[in-house]
Parts: sequence; C-alpha cells; structure tokens
Amino acid sequence: TFKALIANKGEAGTSVAFGEFAEADLMEGDVIVRVTHSTLNYKDGLAITGRAPVVRRWPMIPGIDFAGRVESSEHPEFKPGDLVILNGWGTGETHLGAYAQKSRVKGDWLVPLPDGMTPAEAMAIGTAGYTAMLSLLALERYGVKPADGPVVVTGAAGGVGSVATALLAKAGWHVIASTGRPEEADYLKGLGAAEIIDRNELSGPGRPLGKERWIAGVDAVGSHTLANVLSMTKYGGAVAACGLAQGMDLPASVAPFILRGVALLGIDSVMCPKPRRLEAWQRLARDLDREKLAAMTTTIPLEDVVETGRALLDGKVRGRVVVEIG
Ligand code: NAP
Repeated sequence: TFKALIANKGEAGTSVAFGEFAEADLMEGDVIVRVTHSTLNYKDGLAITGRAPVVRRWPMIPGIDFAGRVESSEHPEFKPGDLVILNGWGTGETHLGAYAQKSRVKGDWLVPLPDGMTPAEAMAIGTAGYTAMLSLLALERYGVKPADGPVVVTGAAGGVGSVATALLAKAGWHVIASTGRPEEADYLKGLGAAEIIDRNELSGPGRPLGKERWIAGVDAVGSHTLANVLSMTKYGGAVAACGLAQGMDLPASVAPFILRGVALLGIDSVMCPKPRRLEAWQRLARDLDREKLAAMTTTIPLEDVVETGRALLDGKVRGRVVVEIG
C-alpha cells in the first residue's frame, strides 16, 4: 500500500481523508510512476471541496497533474528511472489522480520531463502554467503580435494569470494585468506586467462595444469579464479563453466579432493532443524565467492540500503551489 488522499461521496457530499491505498486497486495503465510532486489548480480545489462535479468516479484520488519517476513500464517510450510529467487526460476526474505516492497511467499520456527542468519546477508550472503557454501559442498561431498593441491578462495574480504574465512579457508584449488584488501590483510588475488594472473595471455588465484597449487577451475568468475583454479588443484582435473563475456564462454580444473581426480562441488543456503538449512543455522549458517561476511559487506538503485548495477557491492563493508528495 501507499499513502493517498482519498475522496468519497456520501449523503453529505464529498469528503476527503488521507489513507492507505492498495497498488492492486490502481486503475488500468502500462506505466507505474512514483509520484514526487503535484500541484494545486483551480480544478483541484473544486474536486477536493466538491464545489463543482469534477470527480466522476468514486472513490477518487484527486490531483490532475504530477511529476515523478517511472517505476515500471510496459510502454515502449518509457523505462524505469525516466522522469515524466502527466497532466489532464481525466487524471483526478475519471482516472485515479496525483495526490498519492503512486499512479498507474497510460504511457501515451506521459510527457518526458524537459532537459534542465526539475520535477518541482514542472509542477510549479503545472496544468495552470501549461494552459498559459497553450494560450500564448494560440495567440501566436492566430498571428497577433506585440507590435499590434497590448495584451490583457485577467485573473493575473492567480496561477494561469501569473504564468501568462511572465510568458507574454518575455515574448515582448506590453502586458495589462487585471487583478482584484491591488496589493499584488509589485508582484505582478516583477513578473513583467507593464500596467495593472482593477478587475472591477471588467467584471460587471458592459456595453456590446467599448473603447479599443488591447489587441489580444488571455482570460482565466469568463462571464462578464470575458464579455468586456472582447468588447474592448482592437480591430482584428484575438482573445484566448481558458477559464471560468468568475463564471461559466458568457453574457456577450456578437458585436466584437462582426464589427471588429475579433476572434475568440478556445483553450483546452485536458484532451490537448500530444504534439501540442510537447511543444508547450519545450517552450516552457526555454522561455519561462526560472527566477520569476520561483517568485510565484509556494511549496506545501501533501498534508496541507485540502486547506490550501479551499483558500485557492476563495481567491486567496497567489501564483502557483507545488505539493511535495514525499
Ligand atoms: P487560480 O489560481 O484560483 O486563479 C484564478 C484567479 O481568477 C484568481 O486568483 C483571481 O485573480 C481571479 N478571480 C477569482 N474569482 C474571481 C471572480 N469572481 N471574478 C473575477 N476574477 C476572479 O486558478 P487557476 O488554476 O489559475 O485557474 C484559473 C482558471 O482557469 C480556472 O477557472 C480554471 O478552471 C481554468 N483552467 C482551465 C484550463 C483549461 O484547460 N481550459 C486549464 C487550467 C485552468 P485576481 O486575484 O488577480 O483577481
């Protein structure tokens, strides 16, 4: 057996507790990984607290991403000792997840740890940071450029927002960081934000078209915020939509699309095909400043994951959290 955080569903809703889990009860897969690090994403907070129906199988070991060392493998690409990353593919939702010392998964889901990146750094990036990179890649593919104008990042002091701010600044963008935490202005400037705006400017009902303020956006917030980001996007711009921290609704009009040719780019990290994952992780290894990554990262032991997950949903966690599995 090995140590795990185990979630169960009862009459009173979701409950989580640490316990011993038998290796024989792990799910199907061709690679067993000794998990060394995981992280906390918004979705992990939802799974741990049961605030949204993220978990689709009971009992569940929550945790949507991990880094670790291959213990045994029947997959041709992996051998014992290899350092690997896993994120998404239903891990922590339909497949037993990361908050455990061991995991059995499909080798096809694994990405080799990029050269020069430690497992702790990979999880400091985690699904949130990799999603920030998928958003940057989508904007680049669409063809918007720093020379065309600023980029807005919403939920900037959160996980996706912090990594997006650092990556976009490094890529030469003038980053406008939207946050509800003015006390984090110096933190965001340290990551490379050129301007800070109060998220209240974007979070209420707005007009179909507003003053043109940015050519691009990375939105982790959804709802009115995304509607307002679109309404203020310059002619021909594009916005990558990757989150729902304010809400899953989109109370918008088609005006930005049909009058300004604005594009809305959808970002999914979970089922993202492997070639694009490899590209994202390689770019993260190359372009994400490790000092900035360290500045946005807090490390906690597995024992603290439940309490910290609640704080994350309450918007009280800054940047990224690494969970040491031990
Ligand atoms: P996080 O660390 O909690 O960051 C979310 C941030 O959003 C908060 O820090 C806060 O930033 C802002 N926020 C929270 N509640 C808000 C509200 N009611 N109105 C406006 N802003 C609010 O979470 P995360 O891990 O970065 O994830 C961010 C979002 O991306 C989540 O919705 C998550 O589900 C989504 N996501 C999606 C994918 C995908 O595959 N598409 C992958 C990863 C994450 P400030 O304090 O700076 O205002």
